[in-house]
Amino acid sequence: MRPAGDKLPRHFFHTDSLLVTHLPNVRYLTGFTGSSGCALITPRQKLFFTDFRYRQQACLEVKGFGVRITPGAALEGACRYATGRGLRLGVLGYDGAHLRHGEYLLLRRLLRGVKMKNAAGAVEEMRMVKQKSEIRRVGEACRLVDDAYRRLARSRVVGRPEKEVAWMLEKWLREAGSGPLPFGIIVASGPRAAMPHGAAGDRVIRKGEVVVVDMGASVDGYASDATRTFATGRLPRRLSQIYGLVREAQESAVAGCLAGAAGAAVDALARDHIAAAGHGDEFGHALGHGVGLEAHESPVLSKRSHDKLKAGMVITIEPGVYVEGLGGVRIEDTVLVTARGPERLTGFSRKIEYLK
Ligand code: ZN
Ligand code: ZN
Repeated sequence: MRPAGDKLPRHFFHTDSLLVTHLPNVRYLTGFTGSSGCALITPRQKLFFTDFRYRQQACLEVKGFGVRITPGAALEGACRYATGRGLRLGVLGYDGAHLRHGEYLLLRRLLRGVKMKNAAGAVEEMRMVKQKSEIRRVGEACRLVDDAYRRLARSRVVGRPEKEVAWMLEKWLREAGSGPLPFGIIVASGPRAAMPHGAAGDRVIRKGEVVVVDMGASVDGYASDATRTFATGRLPRRLSQIYGLVREAQESAVAGCLAGAAGAAVDALARDHIAAAGHGDEFGHALGHGVGLEAHESPVLSKRSHDKLKAGMVITIEPGVYVEGLGGVRIEDTVLVTARGPERLTGFSRKIEYLK
């Protein structure tokens, strides 16, 4: 299987060479799935560096790059290799958004005299528009999540701690074929649902409250991400009104996911609707984000977004309203932008589902 990013459109770099250290970027370009390695692309060579632990794995996985095994850390090995062989680097771009300060200093020291430029976002920009093989994997990860939601809708949660429900969901996802989950499952019940990222805790779920569940699966490294808000019996009027509002906001934002639309404009579709109902201050996070090799990646859909949607992007649409002391509601789907319009990759019911 060839890595998705093995055809490098060089115009993305704005530099002569590129040193790629952020592992999802390395994986995208080379196919390497291990936890230590970096890629160096020069005008003449495409090289991948890792250490002894990954020698066999790199030979099996890495496509289109020459594999070099370094005695120590991959980054240091790459720098020493480049200077030792006198590679012509020209202006070298580096993964500035992800490099640790110590690594940056090391780079400066070992590549003294090389002109460097922060190329943060160069590979991320390539990753934004997905290829068919990537969309297929995200789609599979989405189906796993939908299946888990269907199973949850038939299960008993009242009287069980949030943590237990989260573990049950994780087990189902893994047993159905998901790789490591892309993020810890959120199960936030009752007033805890007012925390947008309320990690599942010891609280025992009671009758007549909301339960926000946010989960994703992974298939061949590609993530999915979907949130549903459930009820365990009749909800207070205010919460069921908020549920209806968030659902409408989500529907209209998903419908606006058209190729060419500005991220900020799509965000406004949901945000203005929520603000008009008087809940603007209670929707304090971005509307959505890209999904792929990382659960959160570019583009961003927010008030301040400068990204524009393109066909082939996979994004989430996840408006929410959170009222301290009362609870919260979020509805999130993973959505594919196509030339013909938006396509939801997660499709579990968005009507409120009642759990036992
Ligand atoms: Zn989510
Ligand atoms: Zn999300």
